Amino acid sequence: MRRPLLDAALLAQARQTPGVTVRHGVRVTGLLTGEVRSAAPPHVTGALAQDGERWAADLVVDAGGRNSPVAGMLAGIGAEPEEHRVGTGFRYYTRYFRSPDGALPRQAPWPLCHHDSVSVLSVPGDRGTWGVSLVTSGRDQELRALADADAWHRALSLYPWFAHLGEGEPVTGVTAIGGTDSRRRRLVVDGRPLVTGIVQIGDAWGTVDPQFGTGITMGWRHAAALRDVLRLAGSDDPLRQSLLLDTFAEENLTPVWEGFAAWDRNRLAEIDAEIQGGVRTTDDADWNLQIALGSARWKDPEILRGLADVGCLLAGPQEALVKPGLAARAVELAAGEPRYAEPGPTRGELLTAVRGT
Ligand SMILES: Cc1cc2nc3c(=O)[nH]c(=O)nc-3n(C[C@H](O)[C@H](O)[C@H](O)COP(=O)(O)OP(=O)(O)OC[C@H]3O[C@@H](n4cnc5c(N)ncnc54)[C@H](O)[C@@H]3O)c2cc1C
Repeated sequence: MRRPLLDAALLAQARQTPGVTVRHGVRVTGLLTGEVRSAAPPHVTGALAQDGERWAADLVVDAGGRNSPVAGMLAGIGAEPEEHRVGTGFRYYTRYFRSPDGALPRQAPWPLCHHDSVSVLSVPGDRGTWGVSLVTSGRDQELRALADADAWHRALSLYPWFAHLGEGEPVTGVTAIGGTDSRRRRLVVDGRPLVTGIVQIGDAWGTVDPQFGTGITMGWRHAAALRDVLRLAGSDDPLRQSLLLDTFAEENLTPVWEGFAAWDRNRLAEIDAEIQGGVRTTDDADWNLQIALGSARWKDPEILRGLADVGCLLAGPQEALVKPGLAARAVELAAGEPRYAEPGPTRGELLTAVRGT
């Protein structure tokens, strides 16, 4: 579905939930802290709103998303989170469409396919709507022309699995979104909380490459883990709350984040080489295995299902692909095959279409 529908459904549910108060249009501008004791980390006791109102809290949950200002507020009280980051991210050129009769058109066999310099992503939505994105490296200046709708449609027509998805009634122009780099923050370092009385969840904890469509699922899992941690630790053991939630994130979310971060680094390096007119080769075994799995999935239904499980966060790669021996089979099946099996243009053909020459 499109995001506003999800937001509206969540809001309606929250409004019906006893004990929940929703405050709109009020921004949090600062944190309240308790008395500082030399041996203990700073302790957050509430939040300060932009209109000057002070909210006392047993626990402050930072769910402020990708651009949450809370990390800066924490730095201000001497508890700057430890940050991990992948440099430049990708750039999305997206257009939404709808069908005249509310039915969705035939979807591509796989919603995200990688090609020379570009990945193509199609996302079915609610009420006969869908979005199509052409994803480039944030560093790819030549493909910035994809922000032009005519250039975008000429480019999309070169990808046979997706071309027909550009034939609906446009609901929007082409929207370019950059600045989507992956980052995660940690409030526990060397087994010790930097601060208590506050936790970060969802994108405020960490952002992953949006093209894989996993951010919301990771956020839900994080929120559910926080509920479990509070049941276990109670509301008056802030140190334990921080440590338990950090342990959950380290065991369950950080490996997913690291996997996507490694993918991003490799894919961006690959596109950099293509921009220079070359082809990147590497002895990074994990990356080469991922390429082999992607290529072999069309020849082996078990590999296809394993990749779908990993893509939907139902299983980790180790559990879904390596343990059942599918990884080794993929390497055999992919030998001699093109890097990306799905039909699409070379970079040169793509640039010609984008320029319209
Ligand atoms: C281009 C793009 C496409 C994506 N596509 C998908 C997808 O298909 N599937 C998927 O699962 N994920 C996708 N994601 C990721 C997904 O959007 C995020 O993972 C998810 O929205 C994170 O939820 P959140 O609640 O942590 O943060 P957010 O949804 O960002 O919500 C944070 C909220 O906090 C509010 N806020 C911030 N600061 C303050 C403040 N000081 N005071 C008060 N309120 C504040 C913000 O206004 C916002 O309402 C995509 C991301 C991008 C950028």
